Amino acid sequence: MPFDTLGLSPYLVAALKSQNYTKPYPIQERAIPAILAKKDILGIAQTGSGKTACYVLPILSNLEGKPAPKSRHIQVLVLVPTRELAIQVGEVFKKFGEILPFRFKSLSIHGGVSINPQMQSIQHSNVLIATPGRLLELHRANAVHFADLDTLVLDEADKMLHLGFQEEMDKILDLLPPKRQNLLFSATLSPDIQRIQQVIMQQALVIEIIPEKQSLDLIQQEAYQVSNEKRGPLLRYLIKKSEIKQVLVFTSSIYQADQVSNKLIKNGIDARAIHSKKTQGNRKESLKDFKNGKLNVLVTTDLLARGIDIEFLPCVINYELPRSPKDFIHRIGRTGRAENPGKAITFVSEEDLQHFEVIQKKMKKIVEIIDSEHLNLHGF
Ligand code: AMP
Repeated sequence: MPFDTLGLSPYLVAALKSQNYTKPYPIQERAIPAILAKKDILGIAQTGSGKTACYVLPILSNLEGKPAPKSRHIQVLVLVPTRELAIQVGEVFKKFGEILPFRFKSLSIHGGVSINPQMQSIQHSNVLIATPGRLLELHRANAVHFADLDTLVLDEADKMLHLGFQEEMDKILDLLPPKRQNLLFSATLSPDIQRIQQVIMQQALVIEIIPEKQSLDLIQQEAYQVSNEKRGPLLRYLIKKSEIKQVLVFTSSIYQADQVSNKLIKNGIDARAIHSKKTQGNRKESLKDFKNGKLNVLVTTDLLARGIDIEFLPCVINYELPRSPKDFIHRIGRTGRAENPGKAITFVSEEDLQHFEVIQKKMKKIVEIIDSEHLNLHGF
């Protein structure tokens, strides 16, 4: 089914062609007409399956013909869990928004940068893409109003409805007009979680895409059993020996992310760390360089586990296991995206073995475990 049969604005259909989006992905084929028809959606689809365009395109189409936003009265709010995702989603709105035949403005707002320019920029924005904390700050400063809000999107919805965001989400939901369209998307969302009912009042259309080829199937997985002292040498061995061009390395703490990247740099590997203690400028720069292929190794915490789209990323390494199996799935989902293959390598110590079994059960995949004892890690 081509894009021009879904009911989208012809301007967007033309833009999609020029962006080489030849046909809609399955989630797009099903959700776009429903979003255009102003239905509430609970979209559950693998990571990398085109969820962002799936809501950005019909939201832009639905804005056509609407009155321009009143000063500081936004029409669409997209809530995301991280600054990086706010920026990434903002770029997709900008890419498609700029070809529309009417004045359209979207703005990404998040913490870690000065609030004043954001206050100024909200003027006449149709769409705000925000992390919850900064949104509330801006609301307290009277810089944003929700009376004309028409559509709410929760990207990475399970994370947004998780305990960590509960207080902020409760406050935000109280501020929004009850009559609105609600669009919830996540790769890992169970339709029965109670908190969904707090967001979606009416009957939502549940769209669950179980792809013929699971995107997890596009990821070739292997694990290495390794002692804690040998994790570092094994990482450097794999990066140097296998000539992996680009790799995203996940650690379980900020401290470890810094340690691992410092050690890589000392060993002549082009690496940087990105985590919540880095300045926003630094985070932005590192991710940009990594996305552009200028940086070979990016070491991170679960900050980058969700939603971040790195084109053709060939490899993810779990230097340490995450606590939650969900986070494991999100982490490895940074590779094997948009129908491209990828590789995920996981380090497990003897103490990790039981937890790794739980992860394998949850992901319904068995991963071969290689004993690193037989590798000659000397000099790495
Ligand atoms: P997402 O799951 O939204 O992060 O999207 C994953 C990647 O797929 C992004 O790089 C998109 O640009 C790309 N993409 C989304 N929809 C399509 C499509 N219909 N055709 C080709 N690429 C797409």
